[in-house]
Amino acid sequence: MQIEVVTIGDELLLGFTVDTNAAHLARAPAARGVAIVRRSTCGDDASEIAAAVREALDRTGAVITTGGLGPTADDMTKEAIAALFGRGMRLDEAIVESLRARWLKRGWGGELPKSNLQQAMIPEGCEILVNNHGSAPGIWLEDARGRWVAMLPGVPREMRGMLADALMPRIEARLAAATSAPTVIRSRTLRTTGIAESALADKLGELAKAPFGLSLAYLPQTSGVDLRLTSRGRTAAEADALLARGATALRERIGPVVYGEGVDDLAAVVLQTMRERHLTLALAESCTGGLLGARLTAIPGSSDVLLGGVVAYANAVKQSQLGVREATLSAHGAVSEETAREMALGARERLGASVAIAVTGVAGPGGGTPEKPVGHVCFAVAIGDDAQTFTANLIGDRAEIRERAAQTALNALRRALAT
Ligand code: ATP
Ligand code: MG
Repeated sequence: MQIEVVTIGDELLLGFTVDTNAAHLARAPAARGVAIVRRSTCGDDASEIAAAVREALDRTGAVITTGGLGPTADDMTKEAIAALFGRGMRLDEAIVESLRARWLKRGWGGELPKSNLQQAMIPEGCEILVNNHGSAPGIWLEDARGRWVAMLPGVPREMRGMLADALMPRIEARLAAATSAPTVIRSRTLRTTGIAESALADKLGELAKAPFGLSLAYLPQTSGVDLRLTSRGRTAAEADALLARGATALRERIGPVVYGEGVDDLAAVVLQTMRERHLTLALAESCTGGLLGARLTAIPGSSDVLLGGVVAYANAVKQSQLGVREATLSAHGAVSEETAREMALGARERLGASVAIAVTGVAGPGGGTPEKPVGHVCFAVAIGDDAQTFTANLIGDRAEIRERAAQTALNALRRALAT
């Protein structure tokens, strides 16, 4: 089975909204062996919608659209596609009733706005895809030759819910009716940090290219490089077995630069390791200004490990709140491994934690010197009696340097905990 996706909305064409729906729609069906072979985007214009859907139907006979199901004049998906199928529109009383009930529940008072009635207008002979997450029902329209269009809402949360609740079961039923065992597209992602994409490829050697017949994609981001292995054209069991072999081989080759898989967050990985060892953490942040704390507290349940932190931006605060010595600051400067060391030791002692990390650096765009250019960031990890320190030269603009500094600090902590 092959499907085309048509996303609808002027805001997508203008670039004000990033088309996350198309990306999401590609993933769930692919995992079940249904290929999304092409996708297109058109504006809120009935003739454009009809043209895009007609062409897609001619190619595959199976089309998913998102957007334009709402109650306003710019929502014209249903009418445009109904006309394409030669169907009229009718008011569905059951939908009117559910819209009315929903309106009452919101407690805004008054009658259901007339505009909402448009959402109860559906093509003759269509089937309803229930919307458990919003007001606009989705529509399934099929012609006598079995060619179909599924219309989903534009709001990403509603679209995802309807895809999972109503559309995937239909697609799966069609697959089950097909004769041969379906082949699937499956991926597995290893997350690395603290290593350049090119260095990773060198380390991987012969594994760098299509290991075990899987494709390997390098996905660099500010926080690190993800390695995604993908299997195409195999059954689910074959794909999973091969991906497991591939992931193991990669891990053996590149070792400790891998901190997790899939959507694992480095902050969560570090917290879990510390939790298992009953360790507690304190932070001393200068150039990251609380980013480290934000990364860690974004993880639910972090409070059993993270005690707190000091955002010590001014030298006076580094001294008064963390006990950094005047002599250290004047001899080595605020951005130095010596200062980072005293920040970490001070935070650990004053917050009563077993472990502390400190970050101080030049985030830019100003403030760089030949010896300490923009991106020069010093770190300290205090575990046991002393603190280990190091300096990294991070690249990017201010935001990227700060993000990389937080990630580097977390990674240093992860590596220190592993030794
Ligand atoms: P509603 O019933 O809420 O009006 P709708 O089906 O009419 O839903 P739209 O009006 O097209 O949907 O879009 C609703 C919201 O969803 C908008 O804020 C829009 O930016 C967002 N949205 C629409 N299409 C996409 C898309 N392809 N990817 C991400 N966001 C989208
Ligand atoms: Mg719209």
